[in-house]
Amino acid sequence: MAGRRIEVRGTVQGVGFRPWVYRLAQRLDIRGRVRNDPRGVTIEAFGTDAGLAAFIQQLRVDVPSSARVVNLRSSSIPTVPVEGFVIESSDLEGTKALTIPPDLATCPQCLAELWDPGDRRYGYAFTNCTTCGPRFTIATGVPYDRPATTMSKFEMCSACQREYDDIEDRRFHAQPNACPDCGPTLSLLRLDGGAAHASEPLANAAELLTRGAVVAVKGLGGFHLACDASNAGAVRRLRERKHRDEKPFAVMVANVDAARQVAEVSAEEEALLTAPERPIVLLRRRGETRLAAEVSPDTPLLGLLLPYTPMHHLLLDAVGRPLVMTSANVSDEPICSENAEAVRRLAGIADAILLHDRDIAIRCDDSVARVIAGIPTVMRRSRGFVPRPFYLARPVSRPVLACGAHLKNTFCIASGDTAYFGPHIGDLETLAALQFFEAAIDSMQTILSVRPEVIAHDLHPGYLSTRYAMMRDDAIKVGVQHHHAHVMSAMAEHGLRGPVLGVVYDGTGFGEDGTSWGGEFLLCFPDRFERLATFRPVRLPGGDLAMREVWRVAYSLLHDAFDGSPPVDALGLFRDIAPESIRVVSQMIDRGLNAPRARGVGRYFDAFGAFALNRPFSTYEGQVAIAWDHAANESIGDAYAFAVDRTETPMEVDLRPTVRAAVEDLLSGAPSGDVSARFHNTLVHLTAELVERLLAEHGSPPVVLTGGVFQNARLTAGIVEKLSSKIKVLRHAEVPPGDGGIALGQALIADAFLGDKG
Ligand code: ZN
Ligand code: ZN
Ligand code: FE
Repeated sequence: MAGRRIEVRGTVQGVGFRPWVYRLAQRLDIRGRVRNDPRGVTIEAFGTDAGLAAFIQQLRVDVPSSARVVNLRSSSIPTVPVEGFVIESSDLEGTKALTIPPDLATCPQCLAELWDPGDRRYGYAFTNCTTCGPRFTIATGVPYDRPATTMSKFEMCSACQREYDDIEDRRFHAQPNACPDCGPTLSLLRLDGGAAHASEPLANAAELLTRGAVVAVKGLGGFHLACDASNAGAVRRLRERKHRDEKPFAVMVANVDAARQVAEVSAEEEALLTAPERPIVLLRRRGETRLAAEVSPDTPLLGLLLPYTPMHHLLLDAVGRPLVMTSANVSDEPICSENAEAVRRLAGIADAILLHDRDIAIRCDDSVARVIAGIPTVMRRSRGFVPRPFYLARPVSRPVLACGAHLKNTFCIASGDTAYFGPHIGDLETLAALQFFEAAIDSMQTILSVRPEVIAHDLHPGYLSTRYAMMRDDAIKVGVQHHHAHVMSAMAEHGLRGPVLGVVYDGTGFGEDGTSWGGEFLLCFPDRFERLATFRPVRLPGGDLAMREVWRVAYSLLHDAFDGSPPVDALGLFRDIAPESIRVVSQMIDRGLNAPRARGVGRYFDAFGAFALNRPFSTYEGQVAIAWDHAANESIGDAYAFAVDRTETPMEVDLRPTVRAAVEDLLSGAPSGDVSARFHNTLVHLTAELVERLLAEHGSPPVVLTGGVFQNARLTAGIVEKLSSKIKVLRHAEVPPGDGGIALGQALIADAFLGDKG
């Protein structure tokens, strides 16, 4: 006989890990005990050497589908006589089960029951078990136990209680366990004056959907607005009512086969679609499909997701066609979560609401992912991921709250060797968003039992996230530069302490000199950075207005490239712009009035897209830039000229020759797709050239690509391909490359800045 202590870390609580260990121990004749501890699960195992080796081997390779073992350490302990194998309750030892798992997609066994007419949960929309179901979105406190969830108001029937108490049952300690006799129920509320069939809410909702209605659906982390994705009229109606003119809608399809009918799905993309997190996956849309073109105008990409609750499975089955599933908010407000609030906000938007009576404790939008140049990349980390721990290569010295950025806000709490991202908050521009931000921070602090001693925030004084930080008087505040935070997030993802050469391309971020940065080559350490190169600034006439009226940026870029005499008459872009507006913009630039300088690479995408595609306006952030990416003609391999001004520090990339060459190309009749390809190739060349040069000067540190622009697959793939034969280029995967990922970097920089002393 021998004894081992085995410490397992990762997502191992609330996912059926301990019962699984118990059954494994039974099978391999291992004695001992398993318990939750604040950092994961600890097992004390006694058995023969061969038995223990097999036991540990299984723990490494074959865990429950929703569990994720990040680290497993085992050490010898003295053998003591023990009877059998026991699961020790966490509470008895006075430790708290700190880690609440993320919400988990319905597992295959629960699905089988859902479709089995002989099963007592046949057709039951809230079926779940130890390895699947709601978690984070129903948690109201710690430890994660039924009384601390919004399931506390449902008393389990005797059949459910038996399952819950039976260690051999796959519903042992499944906190949201429920059945049609004792659990939550659905109801349908008509907002259009029609009568609902009280007995068949789901079938009734499905029938309305097939007739072209807009139906709000209460799900796990909030409400969706659904409509028939193959009905152009229905999709248009939804757009009008939601004031969402052109932004693509996500579409839910029944399964992978249904996904393949409307989009191209690679093996990696299939893995993303079917992962327990069930994110929206951006895929290349097929040419001829049953989907209405109105679903995603203007982009060849389609956001697809598979059902992740029994209710979604039932609904998709009942309608038998893909459904638009877009979060039920009015334009840029956060997703709504309460029934009464939903009824109030959705009147006039939805024709009916499919409701249920299980409360949402904390709202959580769908996550978004995409395979970018071969790497599955999380672009929005929310439902299914939150609050999964992210392990730090080096612990922080004190608990830190990082407030994130302004757009696509996500905050982060770091404590010890673990960091937790909060849910996607969205653009912090409205009171509703700020309230959600504050409430979500409060919830996460409670759930994690963390009181931050440090609050990290962006340098921009006007951001609501910065103002929130300023208002908290219970912690030390540390301002962190936006692009430094981007690089640090990528460093954390790869366990790097620096130096690292970070290439940061994004739309905007407050620089240390008070101007807008966004095309940065930074030599980074956790507590400091050196700015080695940047882009020549472009004036943004009208400030933020230039984000939507991208013709202003185009004008500004042309004005600079053509020494004050842009070829306005030759370019179609300006045909429909009032001459008076052009004159005003020109004066703003000449006088430097309300025309701040910005260096964001995203602005170059906007500007080139505008003048080459004749697209004066962007109805949402990045619209023209995305169209510009997708316009590129794959077969064009050459590039335009560019210049680099090396006389200053940081040196400056100068794209004026590129602008002139592109205009000349267009005026001599080149298709815009060729111009787009050459523009992208130019950025690839200049990035590679600068990286090689800077590496040579700075001792060849690792290179990371980060910032929202690296969601552009063409640019990313081009740079990686050009450099990877000589240089290892690291990218994001679990942490979003865009502003949704910077909170992690903010937290680590603030901690490093304060140093090791208390
Ligand atoms: Zn299940
Ligand atoms: Zn029951
Ligand atoms: Fe950014």
